[in-house]
Amino acid sequence: MSTKAYAAPSATEPLGPFAIARRAPGPTDVEIDIMFCGVCHSDLHFARNEWGGSVYPIVPGHEILGRVTRVGAKVTRFRAGDLASVGCMVDSCRTCDHCRRGLEQFCKGGATFTYNGPDKHLGGMTYGGYSEKVVVDEAFTLRVPANLDPARAAPLLCAGITTWSPLRHWGAGPGKKVGIVGLGGLGHMGVKFARALGAHVVLFTTSTGKVADGMRLGAHEVVISSDADAMAKHAGTLDLIVDTVSADHPIDAYLSLLALDGAMVMVGVPPNPQQVHAFSLIVPRRTLAGSLIGGIAETQEMLDFCGTHGIACDIELIRMDQINEAYERMLRSDVKYRFVIDMASLKG
Ligand code: NAP
Ligand code: ZN
Ligand code: ZN
Repeated sequence: MSTKAYAAPSATEPLGPFAIARRAPGPTDVEIDIMFCGVCHSDLHFARNEWGGSVYPIVPGHEILGRVTRVGAKVTRFRAGDLASVGCMVDSCRTCDHCRRGLEQFCKGGATFTYNGPDKHLGGMTYGGYSEKVVVDEAFTLRVPANLDPARAAPLLCAGITTWSPLRHWGAGPGKKVGIVGLGGLGHMGVKFARALGAHVVLFTTSTGKVADGMRLGAHEVVISSDADAMAKHAGTLDLIVDTVSADHPIDAYLSLLALDGAMVMVGVPPNPQQVHAFSLIVPRRTLAGSLIGGIAETQEMLDFCGTHGIACDIELIRMDQINEAYERMLRSDVKYRFVIDMASLKG
């Protein structure tokens, strides 16, 4: 099936229209007509080959939400007309111990990522959600709570799960003081989730213009990270920090805010290695950790929590042909707080 898409032809050229092939649905596949696709900063890193390993042309997009058009004969959880969503993975080995524990993102054989991963069905590389349609095994297809606005739910599939997973794993909840660094797509969901889980939430931002939004989104306190006195007030007090920053920034300054046994979890991926002084970790027994998206069952748990609590993303809806401008604005931290592509603009 030839499908309309938007691709980056190389690391240095803008994205533009491109036709891709999608497979006909197999017995366990779900075919989804994409309504909305969120724009993650990782899309930009991949489109511009900032981490190396990008294979061109690349069709980004891993915050996919749409309506099921066809299902294979063995599909049990979806039927035509249902809302369905797909995040950062479309397959894994499903047999290694990590997969069996629901940690498909750490599959020992390598998870198949939604774009720029080896396509087991058609050969070549997988193509993401900046496209009209996608065909995905039902095991990697998520249900979307009916009460959520579909456009605002799409970015939950990456920005949502990537912040939910570390908050849950490191026990954000009542009695815990949790810091979120950076108020972008991931950060604004980190603030909402940490608040909904019952933690005391402190947002750290470089943007003076985001203070009021930070409070509205759920932070109890907002700290401008360039204000040394404001930072010092939190020294040695935070149980958990989730760092969502996409650019180089001082890590020691945040480690010094952790309490005894506190953990700082990197989810943002600055382009260069960041320096850490050993003493920032040694006293008082701090942990520096990382986290990658989340497993499939955990992603469904996060979506269901959002349905129950009426949580969705704050978005700006764009047309497909505005994607290059959206990337530039994202680089200037000028997004409130996630761009979502209205895929009707690609089909028209
Ligand atoms: P985003 O919307 O662009 O947000 C990043 C935020 O970082 C900005 O809003 C800004 O917040 C802050 N920031 C930007 N430049 C900065 C600088 N020079 N110094 C300090 N802070 C700066 O990006 P996103 O989509 O949330 O993604 C964030 C990062 O997470 C990206 O690197 C992305 O690739 C990565 N990511 C990782 C995973 C994972 O599984 N680990 C999953 C998805 C994305 P303020 O204006 O508030 O300072
Ligand atoms: Zn992402
Ligand atoms: Zn596996």
